[in-house]
Amino acid sequence: MSLAALATDISLSTRARRVAAVAAEFADAVDREARFPREAVDAMKAERLLGLQIPARFGGEGATTQDLAEICSILGQACAASAMIFAMHQIKVSSLVEHGEESAWHIDFMRELAARQLLVASATTEGGIGGNMRNSICAIEILRNLDGDTCRLNKDATVISYGTHADAIMITSRSHENAAPSDQVMTVFRKGQYTLERTVTWDTLGMRGTCSDGFLFVGEAPAVQVFPKPFAEIAAQSMLANSHLLWSGVWFGIAADAVARAQAFVRAAARKSGGTPPPGALRLAEASNLLQMLKANILSGLRTYDEARNDPDQLSSMAFSLAMNNIKLASSETILTIINQAMIVCGIMGYKNGTPYSLGRHLRDAHSAQLMISNDRILANTSTMLLVQKPDTSLLG
Ligand SMILES: Cc1cc2nc3c(=O)[nH]c(=O)nc-3n(C[C@H](O)[C@H](O)[C@H](O)COP(=O)(O)OP(=O)(O)OC[C@H]3O[C@@H](n4cnc5c(N)ncnc54)[C@H](O)[C@@H]3O)c2cc1C
Repeated sequence: MSLAALATDISLSTRARRVAAVAAEFADAVDREARFPREAVDAMKAERLLGLQIPARFGGEGATTQDLAEICSILGQACAASAMIFAMHQIKVSSLVEHGEESAWHIDFMRELAARQLLVASATTEGGIGGNMRNSICAIEILRNLDGDTCRLNKDATVISYGTHADAIMITSRSHENAAPSDQVMTVFRKGQYTLERTVTWDTLGMRGTCSDGFLFVGEAPAVQVFPKPFAEIAAQSMLANSHLLWSGVWFGIAADAVARAQAFVRAAARKSGGTPPPGALRLAEASNLLQMLKANILSGLRTYDEARNDPDQLSSMAFSLAMNNIKLASSETILTIINQAMIVCGIMGYKNGTPYSLGRHLRDAHSAQLMISNDRILANTSTMLLVQKPDTSLLG
């Protein structure tokens, strides 16, 4: 489906909105109980959203990154945890779509994912290296067998969102026992091919429904499930852009819903006072201005990715990494200001739980954005690139 098609094709946004309605109904309970949003994920499966991105020839619908970002935003306006689960799953699927066609096993897995609406989780974070996903301590072991090689992996995976609910986990490791920390591969392990021993419980400020517990992962599978491409290429050529753009889609959704609540508050107050807007109306105008800037930032990133996506050199360039890093930094920081403005507009009605203007969950969920690959880590990476790379000073695309 093309970018333009999303605007005119009611079915995709209608399907997403039907899921959002379910997600919104359970959002407060999911947050309060820090439980998996089972109802919303079942609705995603029923609406066949999990395989959307897979090419039609493998049973999907060939949805674009912009289509997916819009769905992230629609879901983010209802339940940020459900939206983030959708985003993280799609980031994993993007690795299959962009790099899986070289391997018969990965093509078959795409077909099965689309047909059976399998949910895929991610395990890049590791005890001892934190959020530096371009390094691993653990190493995959390949065992040579006459009837087909197998691979074995043990990983101290300190954060795996919805790990126990997933049908498969894509996990990074060093490519062999003697490999350097940055010489990594990614492997798909299917449920039944691994065990998860819980080591960390996810009792957090926000994004509680992502159930991102830590586990000791122990897996064994046929070696064909290791992606043939080095993880360095997968990370640079698809994961970086998809992560920062789809996460930003979720965060835009949280901020957009906060602005909508603030607007509803201002309208209700104006109605009560015979049309005179309350003093907080100015904050609403400021928040809507920031929301528009956030939207422009994400749209520009989507366009940059769309233009670069068939050119591996461009995708691996510093200019592209800088652009994607900047999208993530700006989105993750701007949403906090927007939601805070909305909170000031709504006052105590925004601060309290259980009102139509409540913003506590939005604010708590939004605080995860700066940590999801720490902004300081990204800034350090960007500042190193800026030692040699010219900043983009042109207004042309
Ligand atoms: C909602 C949510 C869901 C997640 N789901 C998953 C998942 O499914 N799978 C997964 O693998 N991971 C997941 N993560 C983990 C995530 O993406 C990050 O990798 C992780 O949160 C980073 O953890 P950290 O802050 O402890 O570590 P670090 O990134 O190591 O940061 C720790 C501290 O050190 C500082 N720091 C570290 N390096 C530098 C540097 N080079 N320069 C300056 N400062 C630095 C940071 O500012 C920070 O204060 C999730 C995170 C969140 C919030």
